[in-house]
Amino acid sequence: MNYDELLDRAFTKLPTLSKENVDFRIPVIDSIIQGNKTVVRNITQIADVARRSKAEIIKYLTKELAAPIGIDDQILVINAKVAQNILNAKITKYFETYVICKECHKPDTRVEGIERGYITTVCEACGARYTLKNY
Ligand SMILES: [Zn+2]
Repeated sequence: MNYDELLDRAFTKLPTLSKENVDFRIPVIDSIIQGNKTVVRNITQIADVARRSKAEIIKYLTKELAAPIGIDDQILVINAKVAQNILNAKITKYFETYVICKECHKPDTRVEGIERGYITTVCEACGARYTLKNY
């Protein structure tokens, strides 16, 4: 079994999110469609809650949405019409995959390193460390 397969196995065995995690809510996207573009007005808040840089979240969304994304001051501009529920689903997936700790379910992870297509995060609440495929 190679390294990729081991990681995939480790990933599929991870527990699903617990409903006990009531003190934290994944932020909701504040977006509007303007012409052929979609404007997200609270990317700064989302990045703050995720404790990730805006650049990292933009990179993730660019890949997920397969659309170019720019940032103008605090405003994210997606060069495509994207419904708010789709954006929310993407952000929820981002938090569940990359931000919320799979051991203690707290959103207290930080990126420790990114190497060769893999991202390593460490939970500051419980110390758990995960290596996931990077986006
Ligand atoms: Zn943890």
